[in-house]
Amino acid sequence: MKVIKTISKLQKAAFKHLKNGDEIGLVPTMGALHQGHESLILKSKKNDDVTIVSIFVNPLQFGPNEDYLKYPRPIKKDLQFCKKNHVDYVFMPTVNEMFPNSHKTFVEVRDLQDIMCGKFRPAHFRGVATVVAKLLNISYACNTYFGMKDFQQLKIIEQMVRDLNFKTKIVSCPIVREKSGLAISSRNTYLSPQEKEMASKIHKILKKASIDFKNKNLSALKQTALNKLNKIPKIKIDYVDIVNFKDLSFADKNTKKVILAVAVWLGKTRLIDNIIMTR
Ligand code: AMP
Repeated sequence: MKVIKTISKLQKAAFKHLKNGDEIGLVPTMGALHQGHESLILKSKKNDDVTIVSIFVNPLQFGPNEDYLKYPRPIKKDLQFCKKNHVDYVFMPTVNEMFPNSHKTFVEVRDLQDIMCGKFRPAHFRGVATVVAKLLNISYACNTYFGMKDFQQLKIIEQMVRDLNFKTKIVSCPIVREKSGLAISSRNTYLSPQEKEMASKIHKILKKASIDFKNKNLSALKQTALNKLNKIPKIKIDYVDIVNFKDLSFADKNTKKVILAVAVWLGKTRLIDNIIMTR
């Protein structure tokens, strides 16, 4: 496993693989790696000849009062994790390497970036799209892996790849959960044991909604989920939304496949989760 810190070195190594006809897989992460990330890495190991994991806590995607500084950075553990999973390259650039003061270009995915989480984190998806665009150009990835936990992010990247003609294929991976149902996240380490127990109720509420999907109209379904979430002590709800699975557009009773997505705060921790519902 090679650890690379500069853009030029990764580009050089990746280009060599490309010329050899190797299929390159990229797993973009912010580190504090867990089983969710592992599922993406394992999928790449299965599909690709070469697996690159990027570990970069991207300042562009954090708002001014968010957790950029306190975001976990267990570098040693992350490298061991990658080694254990037979990752070929870990790309760990500094902020200055990715975004020097001279940086002036940003990628915006109109409309999709402004709804759901975008309403509460205004510059977030612009930061995500910009860093992913750079990572794609640096890694020459044939396949790039994203988790469905960050469903809006996945749809925004799919749109960006279509609009800007990136050559990579976007591979979406199912949400990995703890036994309790809680979606695994690097931010779960912020939760106290009590908050964690409360957080595990979110998935149960979404699951019940998905069972009721066939019999209830969407606004009733949304309202029931909202009421149940509101009963969790100390919760603050950013949103509960039901949107079209395909492109996050408006969903109605004729939409066959929808996503029920939520973002909530438990204490100082923001959690997102979602469930696919089909009829
Ligand atoms: P992050 O490090 O949080 O930016 O996540 C990096 C990638 O891992 C993103 O594509 C996430 O959607 C994905 N990911 C994070 N948690 C999970 C999970 N519990 N299940 C599946 N994918 C996940």
